[in-house]
Amino acid sequence: MMSNALDELRSVVGDGRVLSDPDATEAYRRDETPAVDPGHPRCVVLASTTGDVAAALAWAQRHLVPVVPRGGGTSLAGGATATDGCLVLSTAGLTAIRELDARNEIIVAEAGVLNADVDRAAARHSLMYPPDPSSFEISTIGGNLATNAGGLRCVKYGVTRDSVLGLEVVLPGGQILRTGRRTVKGVTGYDLTGLFVGSEGTLGVITSATLRLRPRPATYPPTLAAGFPSFGAAARAVGAILAARQRPSLLELMDSATLRAIDQWKNTGFGADVQALLIAQDDGEQADAAVALMRDSCEREGATTAEVSDSEAESRQLLELRRLAYPALERLGATLTEDVCVPRTRLPDMVQRIERAAFRHDVFIATVAHAGDGNLHPLFVFERGPPAVPAPVWAAADEIFRAALELGGTLTGEHGVGVIKRRWLAEELGPESMAVHHAIKRALDPDGIMNPGKVL
Ligand SMILES: Cc1cc2nc3c(=O)[nH]c(=O)nc-3n(C[C@H](O)[C@H](O)[C@H](O)COP(=O)(O)OP(=O)(O)OC[C@H]3O[C@@H](n4cnc5c(N)ncnc54)[C@H](O)[C@@H]3O)c2cc1C
Repeated sequence: MMSNALDELRSVVGDGRVLSDPDATEAYRRDETPAVDPGHPRCVVLASTTGDVAAALAWAQRHLVPVVPRGGGTSLAGGATATDGCLVLSTAGLTAIRELDARNEIIVAEAGVLNADVDRAAARHSLMYPPDPSSFEISTIGGNLATNAGGLRCVKYGVTRDSVLGLEVVLPGGQILRTGRRTVKGVTGYDLTGLFVGSEGTLGVITSATLRLRPRPATYPPTLAAGFPSFGAAARAVGAILAARQRPSLLELMDSATLRAIDQWKNTGFGADVQALLIAQDDGEQADAAVALMRDSCEREGATTAEVSDSEAESRQLLELRRLAYPALERLGATLTEDVCVPRTRLPDMVQRIERAAFRHDVFIATVAHAGDGNLHPLFVFERGPPAVPAPVWAAADEIFRAALELGGTLTGEHGVGVIKRRWLAEELGPESMAVHHAIKRALDPDGIMNPGKVL
């Protein structure tokens, strides 16, 4: 029966586009979340057109096969991990840029286009695509939309949701839905575009998006790197910069554990007086003056060093320190990357709560923060398993999630709920919101085949 069903799938999407040999499907079981044990897919469809996606979803609905949409597979929440018997539907092969309208500052990109390629296409017209997750070279627009990804520039330009005008989505069953618009303004009907952004593959499969571009700064922004004697002092400097109504285009913070890991690897020579590093950029017309003002704020808050780049090469070099954070920490052992977000004024409190959780549960946590957004990534480092994640790590993570909620924050600033945050979801959303979530899910996916076990 199932091999007949697979023959039918091959006949509708093309033989070469369906993988069912376990050796071939193995590469599609996992994403970048080691804490989640993946299942074994029944098959993988390598879609390259909206028609392929529609045919695969119609087939899945007919045979009640669960579907796990997949882009670059870089999820840190387990959102793209396979479940047993599922169809993994890869949209990585939908790679066309259908249109770039420079005068109206929009681009229509298919789901599999890499984030960096959208920005590169925009750059040819002196435009930019602002959302820039650190995974920009390996994650896809479809995945970015499905997780409402953030990034380094979000402090000024907002998250993915702020750059999307409309979507092409294939619903379970195979119908093609077009949402939104291509105009700067427009309020016709419910905001279905917003509904699908951040839905983590649980409502439908995004195949294409109309994205908003912005003017690209004429020159590479100058960078400030300020060292502080404690993470708390650096977090207070972030508060001072924002309270002074400064609007950096990037404001990132790294703690001492992260700096030591980078130092061990690259011999950067941070002194003992640098227990936290704040990195800031401004890409406005008065960038040099703005960065100098941020340096003054840092010095007033007790910065022990504050260096401003004086060339593009130096600016890139200082920012590179931030990009080294994850690979440096991953060299130390197995990692679990967390992602809480608090009101920006509560950043120093959240830093304290993370330090307390690490101490109480005797676990190693290094923290990197998109500080200007109040978005912290406590990164747990531990011995490689089994178990995949030791119990004290989960206990500390639990304490950190609860602390974020108590401080008026949220469980996830950008990585999504996926599998790993599901059990805390109701605590943040409350019963009424949970009921609305379930009602929307039932309305769009009555058979519950879309990414089951994720989010809800
Ligand atoms: C080194 C590294 C750095 C990272 N930095 C950041 C960061 O700065 N900011 C940030 O927000 N995230 C970051 N992430 C997490 C990850 O890159 C993002 O969540 C990204 O948006 C996922 O895109 P993807 O194409 O890899 O999607 P996948 O991982 O394949 O999928 C992610 C989710 O989206 C769903 N999905 C994928 N494609 C579609 C589609 N076409 N239609 C419907 N649903 C779909 C999947 O089912 C899954 O739930 C990072 C990850 C890594 C490994």
